[in-house]
Amino acid sequence: MNDLTLWLDGAFRERSAPHVDLFDHALHYGTGVFEGIRIYDGAHGPAVFRLGDHMARFARGTAMLRFEADTDAMSHAAGELCRRNGFRNAYVRPLAWLGGGSLHLDVEKLTARQAVAVLPWTSHLGEAAVQTGISVMTSTMSRNPRSALPPLKICGGYVNSCLAKLEATHAGFDEALFVDGDLVCEATGENVFLVQGDQVVAVEHPDALPGITRDTIITLTGAVSRPVSRAELASADEIFLCGTSAEVTAVRRFDDRELAIGPVTKAIAATYQDVVHGRDTTHGHWLTPIETLFASAAA
Ligand code: PMP
Repeated sequence: MNDLTLWLDGAFRERSAPHVDLFDHALHYGTGVFEGIRIYDGAHGPAVFRLGDHMARFARGTAMLRFEADTDAMSHAAGELCRRNGFRNAYVRPLAWLGGGSLHLDVEKLTARQAVAVLPWTSHLGEAAVQTGISVMTSTMSRNPRSALPPLKICGGYVNSCLAKLEATHAGFDEALFVDGDLVCEATGENVFLVQGDQVVAVEHPDALPGITRDTIITLTGAVSRPVSRAELASADEIFLCGTSAEVTAVRRFDDRELAIGPVTKAIAATYQDVVHGRDTTHGHWLTPIETLFASAAA
């Protein structure tokens, strides 16, 4: 099998080359930031979906930790890695983290490291999930409150997601839903929507990650964004989750309630595919052809 080519601190390297030191700060304390971005093949070749928005969110994460990453170089690395690895559809994982030097908690003097990996990987809920829907359990755990950890893609914050996911999968469910008192927050790696009659509602909660897929679906459907109680969600006609990795995934079971994959969810899932693959040309501005990111274009 060919080794995967990665980009690390400004250079292209093989995956099998050593990358991190045991004493990199982020390995101990989660002091890193990441993104999840998709590249989709289309009529005009592979293109990155909403690259600028993902990199802007990434930069908000690094600013929170008071370091900087070179998001331009990372964007070009993503395109170039797609070319070098021969991918037409791919998942891009930018990561920036605090390196070694001290195991203390004052991080200001530490040097940041940065990497981009492009993987032939698509959905973390599994490829079948998009077709068959998933089961979701209300978690007994709370979402990190924004007053403790802002809803950005900060590495350490994802331990909260992993713990809730462990609880759900051990109980026989695919995914966990965070609720806050009576209000719905989000799933471990997706935002939540409901459909009631002909109304599409995007669940709004201050502790939820401001998802780019969520924003895309609001733009495409005119969905209303507002707080939603768990009781309202439980009685909705349709429920779906969305995210860069999960795309539009229907919820077939919510706690003890079975649901069908409804017509509205199916239509939104199909529209989303048309947009990300560039078949819907009215949203072409969301697509960055990877050829504009190749190393020669960067020079
Ligand atoms: N919430 C969480 C906790 C996530 O990790 C993600 C995936 N990044 C989302 C929501 C969906 O965000 P996006 O649509 O930007 O991928």
